[in-house]
Amino acid sequence: MIKEARLTINLDSLAHNYKTLKSKLNPETTLIAVVKANGYGNDGVRIAQELSKLGATYFAVAYASEGNILRKSGIKDSLMVFYPQEAQLEQIIEHQLEPVLYNLEISNAFISLLKEKNIENYPVHIKCNTGLNRIGFSLENLDSFLRKSNGPLLDIKSVYSHLGFSENPKPCALTKKQFYTFELIKSRVRELCPSLPKFHVLNSSGVFNYPEHQLDAVRTGIALYGFANNPEWNKTLKPIAKLSAPICQIHFIKKGESVGYNKGWIASKESRIGIIPLGHADGIGRQYGNGVGKVRVLGQTVPIIGNVCMDMLMIDLTSIDCPTGTEAIIFDQNFTASDFTAAANTISYEILTSLSPRIQRVYV
Ligand SMILES: *Cc1c(COP(=O)(O)O)cnc(C)c1O
Repeated sequence: MIKEARLTINLDSLAHNYKTLKSKLNPETTLIAVVKANGYGNDGVRIAQELSKLGATYFAVAYASEGNILRKSGIKDSLMVFYPQEAQLEQIIEHQLEPVLYNLEISNAFISLLKEKNIENYPVHIKCNTGLNRIGFSLENLDSFLRKSNGPLLDIKSVYSHLGFSENPKPCALTKKQFYTFELIKSRVRELCPSLPKFHVLNSSGVFNYPEHQLDAVRTGIALYGFANNPEWNKTLKPIAKLSAPICQIHFIKKGESVGYNKGWIASKESRIGIIPLGHADGIGRQYGNGVGKVRVLGQTVPIIGNVCMDMLMIDLTSIDCPTGTEAIIFDQNFTASDFTAAANTISYEILTSLSPRIQRVYV
C-alpha cells in the first residue's frame, strides 16, 4: 500500500552509473556531471550532493537560475552554465558560476560587465558549433573573438562542442565531420590561447560510442540517471527512478458509461476502473491517454484510459482484483521511463525532466 504519488530515487543505482561512466574514462578525463532541469527531474540538489560525495568535482546546468539553487544549497564545486542569457549575467558573477560563451553577442555583454565590475580572470567556457547548428561559435567567429578578446578578463577554462548524432550506430559520416571540424577548432585555439584550455565533445551516448574521443572531459547527463539511448549500453546502467502512485479510488462502470472529460473512454462492457493521483501537471502528458500509456498493477500491464486530466489519470482495472491503495507503477527499473515513453514516440529525457516538484521524492 502506498499513500501518495512518489518518485523513489535509488542512490546505489546513481553510484553504480557514476562508477560505470568513470570506468570508461581515463583517470585524467574530467566527468562533468550534468544536473540541469532539476537533475533530469530527480532533484538537482540531492543528486549534486550525492555525486559530490562520489567524487564529482564539476557540474553543469542549463540556465543561471539552476546554478543559483545549487549554490544556495551549499554546492561549492565548479558549476558551468551551458546557455546563459544576457539578463542572467549579473547573477552568474554573483553566484560564481562559469558561463559558456557561445556567440559574439553574449561574449561582448559578459566582457562589458567584467570591465564595469573591474573583474579579471573570470572562468568561462567557449562553445563551438560543429554541425548540430543549435548554438555556438563558428570557426570564423571563434577566430575573431579569440584575437580580440583573449585578454586578462577571461580565464578560458575549456572549449567544447556538442554532437548531434552520438547515439547513432558507427560509422556515422556526420559525427566524423563534427570531430574533424573540432580538430580545426582545437588547433586554432592552441595557436591563439596561451592558457591552453581543456577540450571536450562527448555527452552520455558519446562516452559509450566514441570513448576514444573523450579528450580532457565529458559532459554526462542521462547516463547518470540510468539511460544510454541504446539497448546494449542500457544494460550496463541502472535507471535510478521509479514513479508510482496508489490507486486512490475504484469505480464500477456499466456498459456504455463514459470515463473522464469529454467522454474520453466508453465502457464496452461492465468494467472496473482505477484512479491514479498523477496527471499532465505532473508530467504525464495527454499523449499517454486513450490507451497509449500503460502502467503496471500487481505485475499486470493495464492501459491508461480516456483523457489524462491535470491531476489524475484513469486505468482499466477490469482484469485485476485489487483494493484501493494498491500501487500502480508508471516506470521503474524493469519497465523503464524509456519503455513507457516509447509508446508515445518520445524519450526518457522528456518524461523525467517534466516530473513536477509536487511529486514526493523518496530516497533509498
Ligand atoms: C544536456 C547536455 C549534455 C548532457 O547530455 P546527455 O545526453 O544527457 O548526456 C551535454 N552537453 C550539453 C551541451 C548539454 O546541453
